[in-house]
Amino acid sequence: MTPNSGQLEMTFAPGENTFKNNLDKGIFTLLIEHDSPGADVAPEEAGRRLVLLDQAVQRASEIMPTGLAITDQYNFSHSHRAAEYAGALPPERRNAHLIYLSGRETTFERMVELIQLCRNAGIRNLVPVSGDFHNNMTRNVFTEDVRTIKWIKENYPDASPGAVVNPYKYRADTQFAQFFKLIKKLKTGSGFVVTQAGWDMRKLQALKWYMEYRNLDFPVIARLMLLTPRSLEQIRNGAFPGITVSPDFEAILHNELAFSAKQFEAAQWRRLELQAAGCKFLGFSGIQISGVDTPDKIRLTAMRIKAALREFSSFDQWVEEYCAYQAKAEMAPTPNSFMMFEGLLSRQYFDPTVRFCRNGLFSNVKMQDRLLYFIKSMLFKHCDGQRPSGRRILKKILAGCSACGQCRLHDTAFICTEKCPKKLANGPCGGVRQNGRCEISSAMCVHSKITAIREWRHDPDKLEDIYVPANDEF
Ligand code: SF4
Repeated sequence: MTPNSGQLEMTFAPGENTFKNNLDKGIFTLLIEHDSPGADVAPEEAGRRLVLLDQAVQRASEIMPTGLAITDQYNFSHSHRAAEYAGALPPERRNAHLIYLSGRETTFERMVELIQLCRNAGIRNLVPVSGDFHNNMTRNVFTEDVRTIKWIKENYPDASPGAVVNPYKYRADTQFAQFFKLIKKLKTGSGFVVTQAGWDMRKLQALKWYMEYRNLDFPVIARLMLLTPRSLEQIRNGAFPGITVSPDFEAILHNELAFSAKQFEAAQWRRLELQAAGCKFLGFSGIQISGVDTPDKIRLTAMRIKAALREFSSFDQWVEEYCAYQAKAEMAPTPNSFMMFEGLLSRQYFDPTVRFCRNGLFSNVKMQDRLLYFIKSMLFKHCDGQRPSGRRILKKILAGCSACGQCRLHDTAFICTEKCPKKLANGPCGGVRQNGRCEISSAMCVHSKITAIREWRHDPDKLEDIYVPANDEF
């Protein structure tokens, strides 16, 4: 029995949507990230701890607007489902927070059940994610976040679904692929954005500038991480796919670690304060901080962040301090990394005259891939109308077809998305590696390839506009 499982049939009148109201009013919000506990914690005990955290958050809200971001299936191989766990909160407090919905090891039917549970419990602020791969997975099933957002929009109109994006990509194809998918999620019905965690403030500014360049006026929350020696080790071991620490930054952290655990902690707090202040200058609507989810740390975090937001009188003063603190370290993981705009961090606001870089995309499409594209576009032009067995051998040889029987090659630049280990059809997950390879296998991410082909064909808009159904959605 999970904390919320008795509420499937009950419907609560939702309390005020404090989180959304703050976003709508442009009030800078602090979210404390809290992982739903492992399944080994008894539901009553898990619920009791959550209520204590919520009370700590209420006290912190006297300092600055604060809520929880309750993650789902994150950092544990098996955890309480956030949608069920959040039911332990008092009904009037359930919309002060963000509730994640992970697609990992979750069939679409189970996802719908979780959303219905949220609807019945009056929980409105939902953040669907496709989910990270985990070695202890018992079954290889993922429900794609775009599909979840679509279902929420069509069936739970009172909900406010968010969209996650990983802006910390350093190749043109992987960076654009993330942003195109973000736009698809916004067009599908997301009303706000949450980023992956990272430390390169240029990438956060690039996201904001790109959204402005595309006239996308949506609130964005930046996810920040208070590093601990343990979380640093986990990042090194690949436990958090999609989170990048550059060699330069790693050397700084290594030096900080060499002094003492206490000094390391102090250095991370200062880094966090600087990032928080920078996010405000860059126009973010709030921050989501991981690594501080104990009742005593929540109040301390609110106090420190509030002080940091007041510390700098200008953007230039903040940039100077931030760059000095990072010892001008290169935050990109490789030399000559892709930056979408020139002059990032040299000015606060987006200027339409600033140089926008798309180069690097076309060069990724080799001559043989171009030729193959033309052959496939002739052979498989009407593949959606073909019987599952139609041209099966040719499809297998030329497009890597896995014979799912629901051909969508015409929507995916004739590259079979069934080759994605998570079977994501609408764009990449955030875990795609910095070299463009898959989070799980050593192959190139299919969506890196699709993005490059679309760019070369001058039709990248298709990546934002066409919803590609899953193979069981016909
Ligand atoms: S192919 Fe791409 S989207 Fe699929 S799991 Fe690998 S990195 Fe993620």
